[in-house]
Amino acid sequence: MQTDIHPQLAGRRDVGEAEDILRSCVHCGFCTATCPTYQLLGDELDGPRGRIYLIKNLLEVAPEDRDVARASLPHLDRCLTCRSCETTCPSGVRYGRLLDIARGLISERAKPVLARRMASLLIRLVVPRPMIFGAMLKLGQLLRPILPGALARKVPMVPRVDGPGFSKTGSSPVSGSISAPKHDRRVILLNGCVQRAATPDVNRAIEVLLDRMGIAVEYLSEEGCCGALDYHLAAQDTGRARMRRLIDLLHPRLADVEAIVSSASGCGVTIKEYPDILTGEPCEARAREVAGKVVDVSELLETAEWNCRSARVAVHSPCSLTHGQGRAGSIEQILVRAGMEVVPVRDGHLCCGSAGTYSILQPQLAGQLLSNKVAALGANDPEIIVTGNVGCHLHLQGGTDIPVMHWAELLASRLTDPPQADRASA
Ligand code: SF4
Ligand code: SF4
Repeated sequence: MQTDIHPQLAGRRDVGEAEDILRSCVHCGFCTATCPTYQLLGDELDGPRGRIYLIKNLLEVAPEDRDVARASLPHLDRCLTCRSCETTCPSGVRYGRLLDIARGLISERAKPVLARRMASLLIRLVVPRPMIFGAMLKLGQLLRPILPGALARKVPMVPRVDGPGFSKTGSSPVSGSISAPKHDRRVILLNGCVQRAATPDVNRAIEVLLDRMGIAVEYLSEEGCCGALDYHLAAQDTGRARMRRLIDLLHPRLADVEAIVSSASGCGVTIKEYPDILTGEPCEARAREVAGKVVDVSELLETAEWNCRSARVAVHSPCSLTHGQGRAGSIEQILVRAGMEVVPVRDGHLCCGSAGTYSILQPQLAGQLLSNKVAALGANDPEIIVTGNVGCHLHLQGGTDIPVMHWAELLASRLTDPPQADRASA
């Protein structure tokens, strides 16, 4: 796609990158068919190809022309950033990166409506602070019986998980702790902000599994947020500052560990993309080294064989894993090999509507996507639904009575024998 960059924008690194991405789009429209918002709204401008045209227009007008930015904003805000379109695109268009650049450009030209600005600010203040977020979540869960239905669904009760080797105290992982110094193999396990407060059993489960693989787990002290939240809420400078801080914490530890493990695929995909986001900054080389060591927990656990008591399971693979990290089917494969009965789920490539903060900022569309998703997940009578990202976990549990858990929690809670072999070293 040919773009006539406005002279006032020429020479900007982000604009040059956007132009390169736009050039790779051949307007075929294949992506439209797999876009969840296009499917719901039927408007070309609420599909990837239409949004790409809007972004092209942004680059072709002067920065002081605010009308184009204002007209584009609602359509870009309704994008889930699920990146289903990237998976479908035959030309390899990096739509997610293009959208990030466009959001940065729009934030320079037009402000969202006041209510959205206030909601974004509140989310950015609360969510990256586990103490505050955790306290608010607990309060919400306490008051849940008297809350209106729509609000109650935002504070789901997440079932606790137990199984072989789990701590009886139910405590969450301790920042800076080393859980099993007996092993030579070591990884850093990221705590995340929301997951640490909302679903602490996830990392406890992963500790159990990695211990069985002979891998010791370390945590960062003062881990902080990976920056995804601010970055995707158009506070890109704050997001980049959080990214630099996490790089400063992780980089000195790289030589001591074989991997940095993310158990929330939304955080993992962001850290893997630090080099793109921080291109041209002094920390770019270190960002590349950190990103090169980050793995989703599925990449590590799929190197072992697991034996488990079976369960009938429906899998929701998060978009950040399926489309963002290109790991469609990885959770299902691990569970099937471990002896689980994984039921078919229609439209597994479609987003559940969680999408970071989307379920809060676009509740109507997120609610429709959630209804469709839980209907698809429940269609074959699973005992349990599993996923791999804390946002999807909470969002799905708000829409169904079927217990939802992280797939690693299911694996750890149903373990029978130790892993038979390390496939990587076999
Ligand atoms: S599928 Fe790819 S090349 Fe075709 S319109 Fe969509 S983004 Fe462009
Ligand atoms: S990221 Fe998802 S919602 Fe956005 S255009 Fe692509 S497929 Fe549609």
